[in-house]
Amino acid sequence: MTKVSIHNLNEFNALFKRLKQDPNQVRKIRTLFYKQAFSLEKGTRRIPDELLALAQENLETNFLTLEKRMDSKVDGATKLLFKTHDGYYIEAVILRIATGRVSLCISSQAGCKFGCAFCATGAMGFKRNLTVSEIADQVIHVQRILKVEEKSLRNIVFMGMGEPFDNFDVVCESVKLLNGSESFNLASNNIMVSTCGLADKMLKFATLFPDVNMALSLHSIQKDYRDEIMPVNRAYNICKLKEVLTEIGEISSRPVMLEYLVFKDLNNSAEDVTELIKFCEDLNVRINLISYNRTSSEDRFQGVSEDEMFEFKSCLEKAGLTVTIRYSLGEDIAAACGQLASDNCQ
Ligand code: SF4
Repeated sequence: MTKVSIHNLNEFNALFKRLKQDPNQVRKIRTLFYKQAFSLEKGTRRIPDELLALAQENLETNFLTLEKRMDSKVDGATKLLFKTHDGYYIEAVILRIATGRVSLCISSQAGCKFGCAFCATGAMGFKRNLTVSEIADQVIHVQRILKVEEKSLRNIVFMGMGEPFDNFDVVCESVKLLNGSESFNLASNNIMVSTCGLADKMLKFATLFPDVNMALSLHSIQKDYRDEIMPVNRAYNICKLKEVLTEIGEISSRPVMLEYLVFKDLNNSAEDVTELIKFCEDLNVRINLISYNRTSSEDRFQGVSEDEMFEFKSCLEKAGLTVTIRYSLGEDIAAACGQLASDNCQ
């Protein structure tokens, strides 16, 4: 008999209704599972024995196997390598920020078909979409790790492997699960979905979830160069992105984050600054400048120095833009931006 995923609320409720179980007791299973990292196999005295036995027999709660854990020696990052039941590898990264907050970067696909030139995941090619349960299971594994550390998860970002909007329906369901009061119960503004710029899906997502944060990987404003480093630009170019960001501004009051990896001598010229300022005119956006992490020694991209980064930031700020410099955690364990693709994933 096929088991029901604990993450499928409708099937979960229908199952226990069919089994004629008390809904109040049944609700406890999910509450303990999501809020206290309860493991069904281990059991708990807080659930009656008969109900626990039915849950163990009928519910599926394990969707990924944790194959490897890598802890950074220099900062608070931990990279987790998971294996799906059909043998694909995906990664998630725990980011323990100095302020005490903990964020989690999760994957939405095994591999990616968008081939951004600076991205290790893009170089792997596309394997398959993850399911809602596989996305949720990354969070469950991390909650269990954090419970031991007496920490809790504050933010979740869909910035791991894959393009979230290429797995649109599943990502929307996962956001509902992360946000739902009967499941993870995370505030909408603590969830962020990042895209390489699938403009039509961006608009659709903003309509469905106006309070969830969205990030756009922009990285260049020059058509030819963006075409080269992000092939998606041929389908959704800068004009289209500006158009869609304008429409999103009418739907949602939350600023869209523009992610901008700064590459030495490639996208930080005076002309880039001018074009970026022009692009941001009349848009509700914030800019995150990110230092680039080389994915290998043959990597044709290089990051900029701290001075160059501050210079770029200051030029944008003089035009009235809100700009933050982000330093990726986990560079020593290949967990920083653009580096997710373990040798096992190839
Ligand atoms: S940056 Fe994102 S969209 Fe581009 S190849 Fe990497 S995972 Fe895919």
